[in-house]
Amino acid sequence: MNQLTSPRFDNSYVLLPDRFYSHQIPTPVKAPALIRVNRLLAEQLGLSVEWLESAEGLEVLAGNQVAPGSVPIATAYAGHQFGGWNPRLGDGRAVLLGELVATDGQRYDMQLKGAGRTPYARGGDGRSPLGPVLREYVVSEAMAALGVPTSRSLAAVTTGEPVVRDLLQPGGILTRVSRSHIRIGTFQYFAGQNDTEAVRTLADHVIARHYPEATDNPRPYVALLQGVIARQAQLIAQWQQLGFIHGVMNTDNMLVSGETIDYGPCAFMDSYHPNTVYSSIDANGRYAYVNQPAIAQWNLAWLARALLPIMDKDEDAAVQAAQQAIDDFVPQYEAAYSDIMQRKLGFCRSDAGGKALVDELLELMAAAKADYTLTFRRLAEHAGAGIGHGNGDSVTALFELPDSFAPWVEKWEARLAAETLTAEERQRQMLALNPAFIPRNHLVEEVIRAAVDNNDLEPFHQLVDRLGEPCRYDAADTRYAMPPKPEQVVLRTFCGT
Ligand code: AMP
Ligand code: MG
Repeated sequence: MNQLTSPRFDNSYVLLPDRFYSHQIPTPVKAPALIRVNRLLAEQLGLSVEWLESAEGLEVLAGNQVAPGSVPIATAYAGHQFGGWNPRLGDGRAVLLGELVATDGQRYDMQLKGAGRTPYARGGDGRSPLGPVLREYVVSEAMAALGVPTSRSLAAVTTGEPVVRDLLQPGGILTRVSRSHIRIGTFQYFAGQNDTEAVRTLADHVIARHYPEATDNPRPYVALLQGVIARQAQLIAQWQQLGFIHGVMNTDNMLVSGETIDYGPCAFMDSYHPNTVYSSIDANGRYAYVNQPAIAQWNLAWLARALLPIMDKDEDAAVQAAQQAIDDFVPQYEAAYSDIMQRKLGFCRSDAGGKALVDELLELMAAAKADYTLTFRRLAEHAGAGIGHGNGDSVTALFELPDSFAPWVEKWEARLAAETLTAEERQRQMLALNPAFIPRNHLVEEVIRAAVDNNDLEPFHQLVDRLGEPCRYDAADTRYAMPPKPEQVVLRTFCGT
């Protein structure tokens, strides 16, 4: 194998104690074929696109070969799944190939998802059907293009082997990249065994990797908790403002780096309602859109619980610091959410009056079952200097504001008139914050069906390309901006694991 062009790994997680992971070589597959390499991401990571797209690269992306310098492992973690404690989960079908230091000096994990069974596989087959691989690729890359912290998709391959689920499905493997794969559940795994030494070792690793500013704090693990909480508050505010529903916010699916991970039965809302749930496995709506901030806080409380023994020598002081940090999630989240929502509406400063306008609009949207994404996009066009207003370049043809919005629009315009931004500045801000293109469920379903049923990957490639520029509307791509027709509406999403 060509050492010059294959990735240059620089692994730190394998230097942690043995009980943090299991060595695990990916299980080879019969007939791998490349679906896509994310060239832009590869370049950011300093990886050779040529190598990734070569026969050698394919063997590595399919888990048939281990690249030089790669020390493949499956990591251990626990977690609360739908509120129920599971002391031992771990990477059941994912193998961490190693870490890369990107051109910007940032460290990234490179992981294969669907690479075969591991010691943590329990009853699972270690594999992933093609559908969920494509779904994760599309949605994670769309999130990245929307500026949301997220794991990325570097490549996808088919395995040439069937995977047994309800039906036989083609198998796939996703190459996933993120700043790390350390979850709240990773801390819980050791805390659950009262392995305080391991909690400390993991915390030191996470501080060095993600929160170096905590090092100098007199209570570094309090600072670590505060840092994770701050990033999660920002992250959830981003999800909410985009109408993104994660669907499985188990503590093992929440990264301490503050990136979104584990795109299973996730979805972007079409018509707005706060109680929206898409996931077929979320019967009680635990992870409904409106619940996401409270669930994030609940998850963070478990991180705090895990860190308690190392936070302060004085137990009462530790509990107090933890409680304070957890309580602080709410104002941080609310400030971040309120701020971004008001900027979406074209305001240059946020205040109580602006927040009241946001809340009122959302109520009107819920009553009118208005499309979440297009409502904001339409307002962006309405607010401006007439750019794109009423011509073929706007979404006007797709969506008009419901009549019931008229009194609200008047109040909103009065507020805009009192602001200092020019109409053009305002429109630029709004068009950049209110995407026209999101990975709508029916579009994602459509590309999966084409790939799985007809072996046609062209629709997948086109959708990925289109979603790479979510805020640049082009009337030629109208079909990607349209809400689903009644017969296209997807009510349920499946994790398909
Ligand atoms: P997820 O729902 O993808 O977040 O997975 C939850 C847990 O189940 C994790 O520990 C996964 O590694 C494991 N898991 C999911 N699917 C499989 C599979 N097909 N084989 C083995 N383990 C799996
Ligand atoms: Mg998971």
